[in-house]
Amino acid sequence: MSDYSHILKKQIADHLHSFDAEAIQGFINAVNESYKKFDMDQRTLEHSLTMSARELVQANEEISAVFQAIPDQLFHLDKEARIISYQSGHCEHYYIRSERLINQLLYEVIDPEVVDKFSICIKQVLHRGMAENFEFVIVHDRKIYYYEARLMPLKDGQILALVRDITERKLASDQIAYLAYHDSLTGLPNNRLFKDRLGQAISHAKRNKKILAVMFLDLDRFKLINDTMGHGIGDQLLQVTSDRLTESVRDTDSVAFNRIAMSSSVARLGGDEFTVLLEDIDDIVAVNRVAKRIIDNVSRPLFLNNHELYISTSIGIAVYPNDGEDVDALLRNADSAMYYAKDEGRNNFQFFTGSMNKTSMEQLVLENSLRKALQNNELFLHYQPQIDIKSQKITGVEALIRWKHPEKGFISPAVFIPVAEDTGLIMEIGEWVITEACKQGAKWVKAGYKPIKMSVNLSAKQLKADHLCEFISNILTNTGMQAEYLGVELTETAIIMEPEMALARLKEVKALGVELSMDDFGTGYSSLSYLKRFPIDVLKIDQSFIRDIKVDQESALLVKAIIAMAHGMGMEVVAEGVEQQEQLEFLRVNNCDTMQGYFFSRPVAANEIDVMLEKN
Ligand code: C2E
Ligand code: MG
Ligand code: MG
Repeated sequence: MSDYSHILKKQIADHLHSFDAEAIQGFINAVNESYKKFDMDQRTLEHSLTMSARELVQANEEISAVFQAIPDQLFHLDKEARIISYQSGHCEHYYIRSERLINQLLYEVIDPEVVDKFSICIKQVLHRGMAENFEFVIVHDRKIYYYEARLMPLKDGQILALVRDITERKLASDQIAYLAYHDSLTGLPNNRLFKDRLGQAISHAKRNKKILAVMFLDLDRFKLINDTMGHGIGDQLLQVTSDRLTESVRDTDSVAFNRIAMSSSVARLGGDEFTVLLEDIDDIVAVNRVAKRIIDNVSRPLFLNNHELYISTSIGIAVYPNDGEDVDALLRNADSAMYYAKDEGRNNFQFFTGSMNKTSMEQLVLENSLRKALQNNELFLHYQPQIDIKSQKITGVEALIRWKHPEKGFISPAVFIPVAEDTGLIMEIGEWVITEACKQGAKWVKAGYKPIKMSVNLSAKQLKADHLCEFISNILTNTGMQAEYLGVELTETAIIMEPEMALARLKEVKALGVELSMDDFGTGYSSLSYLKRFPIDVLKIDQSFIRDIKVDQESALLVKAIIAMAHGMGMEVVAEGVEQQEQLEFLRVNNCDTMQGYFFSRPVAANEIDVMLEKN
């Protein structure tokens, strides 16, 4: 950079006289070329200028030709910062406040706002003897213009100042920043920006002893529309919703709340989830009104591609400071309240209350849908064959419950059975299972297949019920199923919790002629000798032991011992979770009676069992 100033200094000072048009053009080209790279590489520019300048003809006209080629504004200042010469460059210069420039002090012709910046920089350049630059901003006609000034020392304390308009470059980088903080589909602030704003709003509310509200919104059945009508419509729907939300919270102070000052912002968190932040609230009634307005606005019918669509939203609301004092707590609690709103039948809003934590909410929602599942025929049974290891024939099936939720799809029994047990719904569900399984068992017999055993799982609660035996007995009569082909599976824990009751009940069941199986054996705390007291016919070794047979010596030994001891006590042994040939081999060698597992078949629908029984 000192090369550059040196050369320029020379050119200006020397007043050379020859004129060579080609050389000037060459320099201009070089300058233009370099300018393209200027933003990236200041040094390249200086280098090119230096190199080209060497070849430059030396005259004042040439210097001004050079100046004209440069898009920057250029000032040649004397040591008092008086303008010796000036080149206006190719851009608007809103920071200059005078028509007359030559022989004026720079400080008198520029915007007073930037005088300090120039004077400090000039002092630095003179002091250090090297180029310096700085940026400044001018507001003109309500628009912001960004400039970059670059000052270079010449001889005798003179200075060359170049000022460039960098507004476009700034806006481009602002654009990038904008994209990082906004959702590209709706243009709304995204999750990141929303959290930033909420954080600031919380600090503000804390300082000013105000309250604020966070609304968490989820569109009702959006997935259904998106899946059935396509993502194009889905996207449009989100855009319309975004407009409607913005509209609902706009001008909140003037229109809806008279003198209540309140500011608001809407954001899209992703998918069909939106948030609304309401600040500077004096009264919770205001929040109520906004929520109500959102519900009304969003549920207005809309037309997209000739379809009339209806959408609604469920809103959860958390209020600072009562429902949380930081960003995460407020969002989490608003989300929980939203779940609650969904559960209340959608298209409504709910304020968070302390009892709404998310897991219990999800549990509650699950419980409610489970209640409906029974009525809506969402429950059905699959059957997994049990194979006699010696004969390789199907000797029975285990009935396993399945639930296809209309929106969430398949839900595992491992998830909903515990909920059913907690809420007592298991009684109703369990009775449905026994009924269904007996109907199916009787159907197979009627179809002429060799009778096989039908096993159903019983939960601890069912075992406790006084009317269990009466119920089973009635079902057997009603369906025409023979007791000897029905089996019930119980876990160790179900028995051990109340052993006396269990013993009495099991004896009753057994008296009906129904077979008793101990399910998942090895996962509870009991020993085989303890179980001896109960009238158990079949021991099912838990799949965790079978899985490890081949890799874990101890599991193998244990399985071997369980089979031997169970046989010694007159029980049959079923191995659960058999997935591989090697496991089957091991079981065969060790005299296990029956196997059940993916190796033979996964649990399947009844008609698939038909096919297997056909071949059996
Ligand atoms: P469970 O009674 O031990 O049933 C066996 C589970 O092991 C079933 O899971 C079955 O799909 C799975 N399974 C079978 N073979 C294999 C295999 O080779 N590999 C692996 N990895 N898994 C295998 P599912 O159907 O998910 O049922 C889970 C549990 O839910 C059952 O365990 C049972 O405790 C309970 N359950 C299912 N249906 C009912 C029901 O009608 N009433 C009650 N009270 N509980 C039920
Ligand atoms: Mg079972
Ligand atoms: Mg089991």
